[in-house]
Amino acid sequence: MDPITALLHEALEGVRGLDAGAPASYIPELANADPELLSLAVVGPHGRVRVVGDVEQDFTIQSISKPFVLALALADRGRDAVLRKVGAEPSGEPFNAISLEAGTGRPANPMVNAGAIATSALIPGDGVDDRTARIVAGLSAFAGRSLWVDEQVYASESGTGDRNRALAHLLRSYGVIDGSVDIAVETYFRQCSLLVTARDLAVMGATLAFGGINPVTGDRVVAEAVARDVLSIMTSCGMYDYSGEWLLRVGLPAKSGVSGGLMAVAPSQFGVAAFSPRLDAYGNSVRGVAVIESLSERFGMHLLEPH
Ligand code: GLN
Repeated sequence: MDPITALLHEALEGVRGLDAGAPASYIPELANADPELLSLAVVGPHGRVRVVGDVEQDFTIQSISKPFVLALALADRGRDAVLRKVGAEPSGEPFNAISLEAGTGRPANPMVNAGAIATSALIPGDGVDDRTARIVAGLSAFAGRSLWVDEQVYASESGTGDRNRALAHLLRSYGVIDGSVDIAVETYFRQCSLLVTARDLAVMGATLAFGGINPVTGDRVVAEAVARDVLSIMTSCGMYDYSGEWLLRVGLPAKSGVSGGLMAVAPSQFGVAAFSPRLDAYGNSVRGVAVIESLSERFGMHLLEPH
């Protein structure tokens, strides 16, 4: 085992005993996750991949799709057009809050559900399939392999997604969403149901870390300015109403999802991702938060630390 893999192994074993929290249950299919699953992946310069734990295990990307769909929207529409529909301010509220800016109806940021539904609705396409195909192609380029939708999780989420549907109706009432509410929300549910592994998320994070170039495939996926905008919003808003404390403790742009994935980015250095289904009160993976915090401390990764 090379020394870095050994360190990752040690970090993973350091959090294995944490058993607080529980898998998300508001999407019924997610409640079936094995709570003991645990994996960690790091992708560095030149696409060097290191993975430890249950590395073969896939899971749905959920909210970690949000920064990447934001990247596609920024690339397609430009920053000003995106900011007309969604803000860039931390909400300080739970990810599924029914809360929009007074007057304009803009969601606070693209990392909470309301903002992500608005961002997803900016992806051009004729219907759910066409829009989903663009999103899948875009996220696959970030991951460096073809991703696909878990139909069971999609059906489960769509069947119970009244709160997100309500948010989408509100967005349409303000003109934040122009077209069909159904197309917007079903496309959003499908993007959340894409299957990934910790390795995929680490590659996706590394693509942001290296200015939009996937370090494994060598392909440019988005412009450097787009990657920088996405990382900025992840830094202020990526961990929901824990974003401030996360920045204080860990100091890296990051994004979590309710299936238990967590991705963080050390600009110009690496993408890292963890998977463990038990969530804390904010909806962040308990062991994911702990393991990435320990890595950040160990390697002195806090962005605001003098180097
Ligand atoms: N699909 C989930 C939802 O909309 C995503 C939320 C999350 O991962 N925090 O509720």
